[in-house]
Amino acid sequence: MTQSAPFGGPQSPGPQPASYDAEWVRAKYAHERAKRLRTDSIDQFVEVTAEFSHYAEDPYTERLEREPVDDAVQILVIGAGIGSLLAAVRLREQGFDDIRIIDKAGDVGGTWYWNRYPGAQCDIESYIYMPLLEELDYIPSRRYAFGPEIRRHCVRIAEHFDLYRNSLLQTAVTGMEWDDDAGRWTVSTDRGDRISAQIVLVSPGPLSRPKLPGIPGINSFEGHTFHTSRWDYSYTGGDETGGLDKLRDKRIGIVGTGATALQCVPHLGASAGRLLVFQRTPAAVDARGDRPTDPEWAAGLEPGWQRSRMQNFTQVTAGMGADQDLVGDGWTQVALDLTGPAVLKEMERRGEAMSMEEIGEFLFEEDFKSMEKVRGRIESIVEDPDTAEKLKPWYKRLCKRLSFHDAYLQTFNRDNVELVDTDGRGIDHFTTDGVVVGDTEYKVDALVFATGFEVGTSYTRRSGFDIVGRDGQRLSDKWAKGPKTFHGLQTHDFPNCFFLGYTQTGIAHNYVHTAEERARHVAYILAEWAARDGSRIEADQSAEDEWVTTMAESTVMGKQFFADCTPSYLDSEGDTENPDSLLSAGYGGGPVAFFELLEKWRAAGDLEGVTIR
Ligand code: NDP
Repeated sequence: MTQSAPFGGPQSPGPQPASYDAEWVRAKYAHERAKRLRTDSIDQFVEVTAEFSHYAEDPYTERLEREPVDDAVQILVIGAGIGSLLAAVRLREQGFDDIRIIDKAGDVGGTWYWNRYPGAQCDIESYIYMPLLEELDYIPSRRYAFGPEIRRHCVRIAEHFDLYRNSLLQTAVTGMEWDDDAGRWTVSTDRGDRISAQIVLVSPGPLSRPKLPGIPGINSFEGHTFHTSRWDYSYTGGDETGGLDKLRDKRIGIVGTGATALQCVPHLGASAGRLLVFQRTPAAVDARGDRPTDPEWAAGLEPGWQRSRMQNFTQVTAGMGADQDLVGDGWTQVALDLTGPAVLKEMERRGEAMSMEEIGEFLFEEDFKSMEKVRGRIESIVEDPDTAEKLKPWYKRLCKRLSFHDAYLQTFNRDNVELVDTDGRGIDHFTTDGVVVGDTEYKVDALVFATGFEVGTSYTRRSGFDIVGRDGQRLSDKWAKGPKTFHGLQTHDFPNCFFLGYTQTGIAHNYVHTAEERARHVAYILAEWAARDGSRIEADQSAEDEWVTTMAESTVMGKQFFADCTPSYLDSEGDTENPDSLLSAGYGGGPVAFFELLEKWRAAGDLEGVTIR
């Protein structure tokens, strides 16, 4: 028997058949997707401005007052996250000395400065995620390092490469304007600074601005609230290792079950009097397999190991396979099972080539098997069958960023923890002291928003300032229908400005690999610029146009893949045609092809598409 979907979407196909039935799986995914799909896509979230601006305030560093700065630097790097640090390091290596880093945070680290929630941990192996390990002769203490270790490492990088010198922290850029006569940028800040810079690198971070769900009543809830990226330890007690002792007699609600929630829910569950986890879409949580670093393994690493390992991981997770899987974790296993290498193996087994349609069907079934394992794992861990059922995800594995955790599911076996499943709909509304889902009001003392970060809004909105280029042209106007760049880095009419973001670039699952390749590329370009004694450097309009076309063509297949996915920040909540979405931002040929393309461009040595004057 079929049941109708609550919002008139595709009907539920009924109970799962005993054996694999592609039609049933497709119908089930379509039914679940329809429940979750909303017409307001990313507009369902509210911006952390005006009455919500306190959600973005810095709870970690006391604000220091200082006099405004009015001076000039050669290179200004906006942002002090890993992307900025890497760029600054590679520029230092090319002999650039006059570099200033500026960031609204109280210290360097970006994501790792802000995300101090209990249990924060990198979800990519730390040996390839934590940058510059060989340069700094540092080995992470464990396979997936926790936040404080990564944050300390960012500080170590800044100290080692002298990047604190001349830096301006606790300072937000409010605008930048190109002076064509002087060939320089004038950058203004919320501290009244006026900085003249010859070159500006803009690196606001791809997921840096907290977002809140626009749930009715969000303003009338009178209990305590905060976003996970601004964790309020004065309310919870404890620290990043947990021990949230002030929550013993409190009822806490957490909204969201994404990568962040997986990591902090076990700590909230262990400490809170009562924990209610409000779920809209279940995460597909697989085993993490974290462990301390084996010193013998570390001692045996050969020079150049980190770059090789990083490249190997990106190659495998981009679906290209490799002679050896050096990282060998959940990420690489899923890639080997669900992409190119699996198809090759299958063709070998069949003893013949497969048509595109056959490949599609084969991968769909393999994906289903992979999700069945994830669902089976939930059943084996979660004791209450009803809770286990609600925690089961129904979408293709690669529709959401992969997630791994060894304590999240177990938390639902605690007597003080309750899963409140909203069946794809989300929370209906808040009252002054509770959360309403369907007919039930759940009273809570505090709400933790694990609702993620702005993705898919305009670049200038996410950066927090506009950029005025030649002849008064605004970047917000030029990029009104999405970024237009040459190789993701430069845009015509905005000379001497480089974008270090997800702006038409090669996106690796390991963000740090993307950042590293981009840093090397920018450092090369600027070294050439300096060697040619240039004052201005700018992308040619024709090169930019060509890259915009290449990007549009290359992203078609990715958008098709997401057309039947459960919505998420990856596809702008189901709006696959949003020009600012991640689907439009990442080069469709994949990160490896993109990095090779940049390498070839550098090797040619003629800076084709870029003019130095
Ligand atoms: P996500 O955007 O992945 O998750 C947000 C959560 O909030 C989702 O579960 C979403 O539900 C839920 N939500 C949103 N609106 C509502 C609503 N109205 N009612 C109920 N629930 C709602 O954010 P995260 O911070 O978890 O992760 C973002 C990304 O940051 C990760 O994918 C990863 O790339 C990165 N990250 C990396 C980490 C690492 O390396 N250690 C750790 C944490 C994050 P739904 O699923 O239905 O959309």
